[in-house]
Amino acid sequence: MTIEENVLLGPLTTLGVGGAAKYLVRVRSEGGLVEAVEFARAKALPVFVLGGGSNLLVGDNGFHGLVLRMEIAGSLAFDEKNDAVEVEAAAGMDWDGFVLATCERGLSGVECLAGIPGMVGGTPVQNVGAYGQEVAETIVSVRALDLTTMQFVSLSAAECGFAYRRSIFNSTARGRYVVTSVTFRFDRRLRVELRYAELQRRFEGQSPTPMEVYQAVREIRHGKGMLLVPGEADCRSAGSFFKNPVVSSAVFQRISDAAEGAVPYWDAGEGKVKLAAAWLVEQAGFHKGFAMGRAGISSSHTLAVVNRGGATAGEIVALRDEIVRRVEERFSVQLEQEPVILGDSRRLSSPASSL
Ligand SMILES: Cc1cc2nc3c(=O)[nH]c(=O)nc-3n(C[C@H](O)[C@H](O)[C@H](O)COP(=O)(O)OP(=O)(O)OC[C@H]3O[C@@H](n4cnc5c(N)ncnc54)[C@H](O)[C@@H]3O)c2cc1C
Repeated sequence: MTIEENVLLGPLTTLGVGGAAKYLVRVRSEGGLVEAVEFARAKALPVFVLGGGSNLLVGDNGFHGLVLRMEIAGSLAFDEKNDAVEVEAAAGMDWDGFVLATCERGLSGVECLAGIPGMVGGTPVQNVGAYGQEVAETIVSVRALDLTTMQFVSLSAAECGFAYRRSIFNSTARGRYVVTSVTFRFDRRLRVELRYAELQRRFEGQSPTPMEVYQAVREIRHGKGMLLVPGEADCRSAGSFFKNPVVSSAVFQRISDAAEGAVPYWDAGEGKVKLAAAWLVEQAGFHKGFAMGRAGISSSHTLAVVNRGGATAGEIVALRDEIVRRVEERFSVQLEQEPVILGDSRRLSSPASSL
């Protein structure tokens, strides 16, 4: 096990801000993971699990603990089971690479999640979703180290408690599990089902293959600055900075009555409505390309807060607070931040687990 000291975390995240980790270990096997956690325990240090850093804002003071950078790799073994195919992917595998591998085999289930940055192990944490699909729909089980017992466990999809941008990993059991692999199941009989209007329009009257949808999703993402393309300024982001707020139908009605045009929304079930956070942000006076010092809003998507170059975490948080304040003032709706915060950023607590 190699222990690196005082490692700047900004370059390990897509937003590119934040201070250093006291210690960092690149975890390449389950044995290495156990060894690294034991090192942290011996020193009474908190640990933080880092994947691709694409849903993360690191505070300017960094993290006085051990960062476990998940780099467990491995080849994919597709297991044919009658009409289905099961495949276990290591936590450190690039997510988009995994999606591509499934689409190349003609498997439908995650093609709409193409182009989401980060690693396989990060996807169950917030149940990543896009263009009408959520990763929870194909996950069979998640293998993880339980830090409370130091045993490896297999958690079924039901045990993971998936909901919109939520699982036990980012809520009730936050900091308890380190995901080492995820097993997915694809039903061979399933045809591509397009639930997102933009995709439906693009493929009207056609039956696209998973590979065609994979490519279309990446193109759409690129147009919205939601695909990481090296060198493009808008890519210094953590994707959508705010979740789409779910409100009661009464709140939706109040906002609709006051709005000039139609208010975009999705039915969230149980009499609730999911509002488009991007619309709320725009209506509150922010626009694509908005700048506040070195922090700003993507020139292609109002929901992406970007590091315009050399921004501190404090500057990103100041812009976030301004957006939240103005949306609340205008609509009495509280926006909730999507990226995880690590470290000592203003008024924010660390999600790291204390061992
Ligand atoms: C341009 C862009 C577009 C994006 N688009 C989308 C989108 O469409 N939909 C969407 O849902 N998200 C999107 N995201 C957010 C992000 O890509 C996903 O949440 C991704 O799954 C995070 O994975 P990661 O490996 O980068 O995790 P990190 O950012 O490294 O970590 C995020 C959280 O997961 C935890 N974690 C990571 N790996 C593990 C593990 N192995 N075990 C336990 N905990 C772990 C971390 O501790 C942290 O709490 C986007 C981000 C960007 C930058």
